[in-house]
Amino acid sequence: MKKLGFGLMRLPLIDPEDSKTIDLKRFEAMVDLFMAKGFTHFDTAYVYHGEQSERIFKECVVDRYPRESFTVTDKMPIYMVEKKEDLEEFFNRQLERCGVEYFDYYWMHALNASRYETCNEIDAFGFFQEKQKEGKIRHIGFSFHDSAEVLDNILSKEPCIEFVQLQINYLDWEDGNIQSRLCYEVARKHNKKIFIMEPVKGGTLAKLPEEAEAMLKSKNPQASIASWALRYAASLEDVVMVLSGMTEEWHLEDNIEIFENLQPLEEEDLTLLDQVVEIIKKDMKIACTACRYCVDGCPVSIAIPEYFAIYNRCIDLSNPDDPALREDFLNLTSKHGKPWECIECGQCEEQCPQFLPIIEDLKKISAIFKEESA
Ligand code: SF4
Ligand code: SF4
Repeated sequence: MKKLGFGLMRLPLIDPEDSKTIDLKRFEAMVDLFMAKGFTHFDTAYVYHGEQSERIFKECVVDRYPRESFTVTDKMPIYMVEKKEDLEEFFNRQLERCGVEYFDYYWMHALNASRYETCNEIDAFGFFQEKQKEGKIRHIGFSFHDSAEVLDNILSKEPCIEFVQLQINYLDWEDGNIQSRLCYEVARKHNKKIFIMEPVKGGTLAKLPEEAEAMLKSKNPQASIASWALRYAASLEDVVMVLSGMTEEWHLEDNIEIFENLQPLEEEDLTLLDQVVEIIKKDMKIACTACRYCVDGCPVSIAIPEYFAIYNRCIDLSNPDDPALREDFLNLTSKHGKPWECIECGQCEEQCPQFLPIIEDLKKISAIFKEESA
């Protein structure tokens, strides 16, 4: 199996403000190119694209290609599960939405310490093993957002786990919250194979500060900036899949080129990336990957990732008075809750896999934009 997997959480949209409006024609053409080049793996989940990702996968992949020509990962939304019987309901709904008889890979989605407690209470991994015996799951695993210590504990207690999906990229490698390196080392200690998510950190590593881009371009003028992040992920031992959420056709074309002629990074490339990390950290904005896990539960419908994107553009431009920025901000406030309407309930921070201080970050945005917009 080739190492590039098509992540179905950032698909092209007809209306950029509505994640449910996936552009089917564009996605279909992207699937055709992906498959024609010999890539075969797709990654979906119950909640992606406002619960449309699995259906779109059926329409554009399952209904158009023989089942044995592709593999798919789907994930149990354990954060939505309230009782044991829900597991069966979610699982059957997912098979039906995807139009498949079995999942090649089936993960517990976004596992952390508290969700692992839920798993234990309802014997969720026991349920996975039953489904594996029935032939409805080929391989069992989980995607993970917590510390290496928690990962070690789970892997010690769950011998049925074959794979773990980790957030790994060169910026998070030594990050104290994400703990990419430490988690990677724990997974290898337990002899697990690794899927990588967020190799480009939600696009953050596709566009770097000018100084950092110039360093990478001088080393390899032809290579895209994102290619460094993808090669970094794919160069790691025991990594069997690197998932990339591709929105534009050129993302896909670039990714195909990288993975068709995969060149592992060398020692001097890694040293260069260490320098790049230092530059990025100096210029750190809000490290939101636009995964949208925080959005649905917000009681005042604050468009958190969209506000963060505006804030980051504001930092890039060093000009909060930029008219286009102001207009985009006003547009958002006309349809969604305003940053200063946050009631600090904290549900978004509980959901955020990047451990962002969302409440404080929203205050920063309010401080810049409130006066003129209120
Ligand atoms: S803390 Fe604020 S932004 Fe977060 S979910 Fe609650 S109201 Fe929404
Ligand atoms: S704030 Fe966190 S949970 Fe919300 S979209 Fe950004 S990274 Fe995802």
